[in-house]
Amino acid sequence: MVLVAVNPATGERIEEIEETDIGKVQTFYENSRRAFSRWSGLSLDERLGYFRRLKKVMAEAMDEIAKTVSLDTGKVPTDALVSDVMPTIESIEFVLKHAKKSLSPQKVKTPLLLFGKTSCVEYMPRGVVLVISPWNYPLQLAMVPAVSALAGGNTVILKPSEVTPLVGKLIESLFQRAGFPEHVLQVAHGGKEVGSAFVNGKPDYIFFTGSVKTGKIIQKAAAEHLIPTTLELGGKDPFIVFADANLERAAKGAVWAAFTNCGQVCMSAERIFVEKSVFPEFVERLKEETRSLVLGQGEDADIGSMTFPGQKEIVREHVLDALARGAKFETGEHPDRWTEDSLFVKPMVMTNVPLDAKIMKEETFGPVLPVVPFETEEEAVKLANDTEYGLNASVWSNDLERARRVAAKLVSGAVVINDAVISVANPHLPFGGAKNSGIGRYHGKDGLRIFCHEKALVIDRGRLKREVQWYPYKGTYPLFLRLFQSYFGERKNWFAFFQSFLRLMKRN
Ligand code: ADP
Repeated sequence: MVLVAVNPATGERIEEIEETDIGKVQTFYENSRRAFSRWSGLSLDERLGYFRRLKKVMAEAMDEIAKTVSLDTGKVPTDALVSDVMPTIESIEFVLKHAKKSLSPQKVKTPLLLFGKTSCVEYMPRGVVLVISPWNYPLQLAMVPAVSALAGGNTVILKPSEVTPLVGKLIESLFQRAGFPEHVLQVAHGGKEVGSAFVNGKPDYIFFTGSVKTGKIIQKAAAEHLIPTTLELGGKDPFIVFADANLERAAKGAVWAAFTNCGQVCMSAERIFVEKSVFPEFVERLKEETRSLVLGQGEDADIGSMTFPGQKEIVREHVLDALARGAKFETGEHPDRWTEDSLFVKPMVMTNVPLDAKIMKEETFGPVLPVVPFETEEEAVKLANDTEYGLNASVWSNDLERARRVAAKLVSGAVVINDAVISVANPHLPFGGAKNSGIGRYHGKDGLRIFCHEKALVIDRGRLKREVQWYPYKGTYPLFLRLFQSYFGERKNWFAFFQSFLRLMKRN
């Protein structure tokens, strides 16, 4: 079986890539476990040496990488560069700068009962991490979890999306060029059957990015063997504009956040809520900004093609459903006029959209922006939270106190004030969702630690012949009572505390 890499912008077949034979799943795991014993045995500094080379290789190959991503997805080269390649390099830099601090043993306090001992937390790699990634940001969403897992000493099997196999191959080649030891990262090519076979191959951790539907299938399969997971799923992100916002900036921001990557973004602006008093003006601005966008493939184009033909059909279905329920096109083309054999879809702005339309409820993942008015702050919060998702949100106001107040009430993994989407580009911030948007977080120091067992370590120097709470219990009950009550009670009684402490110690 082969995967055919097709340029979605032209329909041109680019290359055939051999699918991984499901019969080889066990060999992948055996290779990975063998590589794990060597890779996890290296010091962190030794591992970071490979990351330094990977960063250099990627920085030098940025143009090649961006062009490959663009060819494989149909997104314009600027989207590929800014939103896929650059954040990936930043995340390698984050690992280089922060892995040591994040993954070294952390000394913690030791409580009264454990007097005289030392406590710390250690981070131990889990083993083989399976990363399953989607097609919309095929580089970043595969490489960031892979790199984070590798930093902690894990080995990785990556199963990239079958829709973007060229990028999967490119990732394999980037790790080879950086000189990573054999089998530390292996790439398995194929679709859901291959993904499913690898899930059933019992990895030690699964990091999945993709649809809610597949996320639930994977979570169920993982539960069978109690395999821990991180699930990064969809979004239906709200974008709230108050009347006092910088409307010019908000409109430009909304158009970018809604249409970047042709709207195929889990954290794009997907539901715009605008304060009623400025609604007509804001819609005019959105129309103007949207109409100025250039569709195409070159470096100067703003919007590329959609990536996956099936997704265009979902967008069509959502738009027709909204129109049937009375929604109005402010700009854009009726699906009847879309070119059948092209994945280029003109960006659309719609108003008069009922709240129960599919376009307001389900993930559309395409270049369409529904705009809805609101009257009060409470209503804006209610509308924004009225969704099964909770990945990202955006609040626009010149009153930062109000923006912070609203942000605090949004059930969302992230909120960006007077900007949108970009929280994902700060590797110091956690990334992940609430509700159906997923389980767990990555990025930041915890994004390195999730791939490790957190091991609690208590160290005693072993000098005393026994501990105060060991046998025999005779006579200890009242002394423990007095010790704790004199210390934790309403008023400290140091005399009683030291007296009971010394009596307990004397028993040793
Ligand atoms: P998207 O449409 O965003 O790509 P999917 O959830 O369909 O979302 O796919 C995301 C990734 O999950 C892809 O790499 C795909 O091949 C893989 N996948 C799909 N179904 C399964 C499955 N049942 N088990 C494992 N992986 C799967």
